[in-house]
Amino acid sequence: MSEPNTVDEGVAQPKTPLVKEIPPKGADLSEWYQAVCYKAELVSLAPVRGCVVLRPYGFALWERLVAALDERFKATGHENAYFPLLIPEHLLLKEQEHVEGFSPEVAWVTHGGNERLSERLAIRPTSEVIIGPMYADWIRSYRDLPILINQWVNVVRWEKRTRPFLRTTEFLWQEGHTAHASEPEAREEVVRMLDIYREVAQDIAAVPVYTGEKSSSERFAGATHTFSIEALMPDGRALQSGTSHELGQNFARAYDIKFAAEDQSLQYVWTTSWGMSWRMLGALIMVHGDDRGLRMPPKMAPIEAVVVPIVKAGDDRVIHAARDLLAQLKGSGLRVRLDERDLRPGNKFADWEMRGVPIRVELGANDIAAGVATLVRRDKAKGEAGGKVTVALADVASRMTALLEEIQTNMFAQASEFLRTHTIAAGDTAEFFHLLRERAGMIDIPWCGRAQCEAFVKVETSATTRNLRPLDGAATCLACGEPATVRAYFAQSY
Ligand SMILES: [Zn+2]
Repeated sequence: MSEPNTVDEGVAQPKTPLVKEIPPKGADLSEWYQAVCYKAELVSLAPVRGCVVLRPYGFALWERLVAALDERFKATGHENAYFPLLIPEHLLLKEQEHVEGFSPEVAWVTHGGNERLSERLAIRPTSEVIIGPMYADWIRSYRDLPILINQWVNVVRWEKRTRPFLRTTEFLWQEGHTAHASEPEAREEVVRMLDIYREVAQDIAAVPVYTGEKSSSERFAGATHTFSIEALMPDGRALQSGTSHELGQNFARAYDIKFAAEDQSLQYVWTTSWGMSWRMLGALIMVHGDDRGLRMPPKMAPIEAVVVPIVKAGDDRVIHAARDLLAQLKGSGLRVRLDERDLRPGNKFADWEMRGVPIRVELGANDIAAGVATLVRRDKAKGEAGGKVTVALADVASRMTALLEEIQTNMFAQASEFLRTHTIAAGDTAEFFHLLRERAGMIDIPWCGRAQCEAFVKVETSATTRNLRPLDGAATCLACGEPATVRAYFAQSY
């Protein structure tokens, strides 16, 4: 399969490639990834540059992520709202650093119908600049603070390449935007939201991450501090999967967002923004999938289990028993499906394995006679101990609930083991550069924190800092030999 997005703007994309066989994951991760995204019907390429269509199975997966995040946002006092897609150019120009950071990837609307607009309208790449003037309007006094708003929207950033979920011109995400009376409150918010991202990545998507602050060159345009969660992909590249920004008073000054404090003094608010996109799904797919296709961690799985009846022609007893079992499982609140398609059982098994459904329930005439069903786990390799269990029909729901928990835990343990064994504290400078060039994983060093040093490493190895954490004790930067100020994970990244 070739990289699909090398055509000119405005020219229709090639059709989504027809994937007959998924290539081995270990040989070429990128080829495996795209094949699995198309064959599992998560996405299709769209007839518009840089965009994908999220198909029902892909959208169902996105909805699981939305639900996990939204529940946590609301539990921490946030409310959802909606701001316009189109941003007048003069608003975008107000925060200088922000506009410089985003201008290379902004898409513009220049015409309304046949008429040229007197002012261009940007299609939101992010919404700080359309939200700023509204907060300026809404906030009068300390009693109006904090404002804790999130929105679930699409954004557009002009991209040269298309990789489903990882890099697309239009993508889905949430963006939180908050305003606070003090810097410590804003900082507390940023840390709280980063922790929600960590929790959802690890406890729901079963993707282990490192959390920490970004270096100044990797910071969000216009932020004073940016924090991220970083996951490690099987090819040794890091994937930034969520970010949380302290914006200081930069946007408050640019958009004149002031409040009367308790002592009557007029002050600028402190703002934050934070976002997680469908990129998180890309991380989940790459981290967990195998040569047979997707593996969904149960808490994210649109379908937790599929019942496959093994029917001999003219025997309806199995179908009836399967429908009864489906009703029992649905009644227990499980997300289940019954596969009654006119296909051989073996083909159904392979199809649901490829789609990553955590548990397959096999039910045949002999099983019914014995009053049992066979449960097959997707997280175990073929033939691995514990991969298949026989359960009394009356106990399938309770056994399944326990098994889903086990699968969730096992998948997180497998992914954590990979991250642990691919996080390497480099022993010296030569080893540091060698490991980065080899894309060996998250390379952990004491670092000087200097932008020049980071730029040099990038030129030499294509790697950048992923995130930073405090250093204990004195040390020397392993990249350049200057005194170290922090510990940093370096890696090549998506
Ligand atoms: Zn250095």
